[in-house]
Amino acid sequence: MPSVLSRRLTGARAFSRPAIGSANLDWRTLGFGPRPTAAVVKYEYERGAWDAGTESAQPTVELHLFSHVLNFGQSIFEGLKAFHTADGRVCLFNPACNAARLRSGAARLMLPSVPDALFFEGLERTVRANAAYLPPYGSGGALYIRPVLFGHGPLMAIAPAPRFTLAFISTPVGAFFDGALRGKRALVRDDFDRAAPRGTGGFKVAGNYAPDMLVSQGTHERGFDVSLFLDAKTQTMIEEFSVANFVAVAADGSIVSPSSPSVLPSCTRSVVLRLARELGLRAHEREIAWAEVSSLKEVAACGTAVVLTPMSSITRGEQVVEFASHPTVQRLYDAVVQTQTGERPDSLGLLHEVTL
Ligand SMILES: *Cc1c(COP(=O)(O)O)cnc(C)c1O
Repeated sequence: MPSVLSRRLTGARAFSRPAIGSANLDWRTLGFGPRPTAAVVKYEYERGAWDAGTESAQPTVELHLFSHVLNFGQSIFEGLKAFHTADGRVCLFNPACNAARLRSGAARLMLPSVPDALFFEGLERTVRANAAYLPPYGSGGALYIRPVLFGHGPLMAIAPAPRFTLAFISTPVGAFFDGALRGKRALVRDDFDRAAPRGTGGFKVAGNYAPDMLVSQGTHERGFDVSLFLDAKTQTMIEEFSVANFVAVAADGSIVSPSSPSVLPSCTRSVVLRLARELGLRAHEREIAWAEVSSLKEVAACGTAVVLTPMSSITRGEQVVEFASHPTVQRLYDAVVQTQTGERPDSLGLLHEVTL
C-alpha cells in the first residue's frame, strides 16, 4: 500500500487537472506506443472487497513469484479508447461493452467480479489523471486504456489467488491509417489452432496470447501481415484473425461476421454491425464456411486498435483469394471514427463523457 504521503502527492498530481494534450507530443507520429503517461490507477482486492484505489506515477507492481498470474496465467485484460471530440468533450468509446466482457472473463478465471461502477470510476480517474496525454481533436489519435485484472500472492494450489489487482494503464496512440485504408495480406494457419470449441477463446484471457507469438512470427516470416484461424474441430469454418474479428461483405451485400463461441466477442464488431444497420445495410453474425470466402466481396479485420483493416488477399496453401477494393469497409470505418470523434450523431449512445 502506498504511504499517506505518496497518496497525497499523487492526489495533488490528479488535482492539478492538466489541459487536454498539454504533454505536447508529436501527435501525428505517435504510432502504437506504449509511451509513458502521468499515472496508473490501481485497485486491490483482498478478503472479499475492493479498496478505494490509488493513483501512482509508476506503471509497475511488486509480485510474489508464486503468484497465479505468473505461474498459471490467472489474468484478463481489456482495451478501449478515450477521444477528444469535435465539440470539446472527452469521451470513452463504448465502455459498457468492455465492462461486460471483463465480467464474463472474470467469472471464467475465478477472478473477482468488477462492478460497473468501479470499472467506470477506474476509467474516468485514468482519463482525468492522464488528460495531458490525450491526443487533441483533429490529430486522429486517442488515449488507449488497458485495464488488467489478475491474481497474485503466494499460493500453490489451482484455486483462486489470495489477492487480486485491477490496474488501468494507458498510452496515447495515433491513427493507424491517415485517411485511406490500405489492404493487408492474411495467411490461413492450418498448422495451429487459436481456440478450442469449449476452450477460452471467447474470453480476453492472457493465456490466449503468448501461444500466438510464434504463430505471428511465422506468418510474418512468410511475408504476410496477419494470421487467420479456422475452427479447431473441422477446419472448415472461418473463426478470426489473431487479435481481430473477421468481418466481410457477403455476395448479397450484407455485412457478416462468424458466430462461434470460440471467437472473442469484439466490441468494435458489435458497433460495426449496429452502425451498418443504421446505414441501411443488413448485418448479422452467422457461420461463414471457408468455401464461401471466394464469393465474399470485401473482408476486413476489426478491433479497437485499428477499427477496420481491409484485407487485400487471403492465402490458404496454394489458394489465394483477392479483394480488389473496400468501399463498404471504408464507409463503415468512417462511420465508426466519426462516431468516436463526435462528428456524427451518437445515435447508439456509445459515447461516455468524462468531466475533467
Ligand atoms: C481484443 C480482441 C479482438 C478485438 O476486440 P475489440 O473489443 O474490438 O478490441 C478480437 N479478437 C481477439 C482475439 C482479441 O483479443
